[in-house]
Amino acid sequence: MPTPMLTDYHVHLRPDEPGTEFGKFMTTANVDRFRAAAEEAGIAELGVSEHIHRFADALRIWDHPFWKENAVDDLGEYCAFVRGESDLRLGIEMDFVPGREDRIANVLEEHEWDYVIGSVHFLGHGALDWEEYDVWREGRSAEQIWKEYFATLAVAASSGLYDVMAHPDLVKHWGRDRPWPEGDLRRFYEPAVEAFVEAGVAVEISTAGLRKPVGEMYPSPAFIDMCVDAGLDFSLSSDAHVPIHVGHGFEVATALMNDLGIDRLCVFEGRKRRLEPVG
Ligand SMILES: [Zn+2]
Ligand SMILES: [Zn+2]
Repeated sequence: MPTPMLTDYHVHLRPDEPGTEFGKFMTTANVDRFRAAAEEAGIAELGVSEHIHRFADALRIWDHPFWKENAVDDLGEYCAFVRGESDLRLGIEMDFVPGREDRIANVLEEHEWDYVIGSVHFLGHGALDWEEYDVWREGRSAEQIWKEYFATLAVAASSGLYDVMAHPDLVKHWGRDRPWPEGDLRRFYEPAVEAFVEAGVAVEISTAGLRKPVGEMYPSPAFIDMCVDAGLDFSLSSDAHVPIHVGHGFEVATALMNDLGIDRLCVFEGRKRRLEPVG
């Protein structure tokens, strides 16, 4: 049997909380902690993908108040640290902001990424997974919000800016604490899956949802199943922000992958991807 090839590409070296300055977490000692956790979990391919909103360059793209509060670090310094002082793959979690495609492209092309992760965390100014700007406060129905989320995800994939689409049903983040749509959810997934196929992007299987109020992986098994039928490729990630979460819940993910016949995972280098057997 070949050696299992596990990846964890959607990893943040520092937590989201205030007081987690760049200099405290972009250190070789911190990288060593993440690397040790990865080894423990049998993960050979480890990459980091800090949030774009942590960097001053984010404000060239968007001026959301949450970004203005957080965008203080130097993107070039981050890239230089990862390339120069670690053996990690270099990624970025780049939000999709509709209408700002050119600005996003301008920021991306200034650095040499191994991969770019595309995320939809906001609908307009409303946040999907951050209480302070909660999109659900606007009083819209589950049907409306879910439809808009997946439509935005489809536009994001079609933009050609991204290698892999992150946590592809993040709209469910709060679980039943927020309005939940009626019936078969596949009607929402369809336009996104179609756009993924057209754009040739990979789909992230993220165990982060297991630690969130919804208590299940992103995306749902039904979504993954549709992606399998459509011939899409997958990457596997934990969205860890602390070492203990590296590879978190991977036994749940690999069991599901096994059930759905997913036996290869994406490996990224210099924005090119290849597939490696899971083992
Ligand atoms: Zn995210
Ligand atoms: Zn993330």
